[in-house]
Amino acid sequence: MSAVRGTVKIEMDTCKGCELCIEACPQESLAMSNGINALGYHYAVLVQDNCTGCVNCALVCPDAVITVYRSKKKSSSTKINEREPIAVISNVKGNFKMTVEDLPERIEI
Ligand code: SF4
Ligand code: SF4
Repeated sequence: MSAVRGTVKIEMDTCKGCELCIEACPQESLAMSNGINALGYHYAVLVQDNCTGCVNCALVCPDAVITVYRSKKKSSSTKINEREPIAVISNVKGNFKMTVEDLPERIEI
């Protein structure tokens, strides 16, 4: 069976260089760039084509600047630009509000 193929797109201009994604990647696919972005930070980049699309990096990114793509078929021959986005996490800088109605008392988080 072929390995699942994935890749990531990182918005380099808004990366804050916290390195959480690098720690979270089990494939060691990510590294910090030598370059500096408009915010003055070194930014994360994909350095190997061994990403499995596990989504770990996107989940830990506090600035939601990573989009993960995974191939439709589990084929190692699928080109990167044919992979589909599977995790698009929108930026969550606004206040988050969730209301749970089914509990005895109304809870607002
Ligand atoms: S999706 Fe998973 S394997 Fe791919 S770069 Fe992110 S953490 Fe690494
Ligand atoms: S977790 Fe997000 S903000 Fe932090 S280095 Fe990675 S891409 Fe940049």
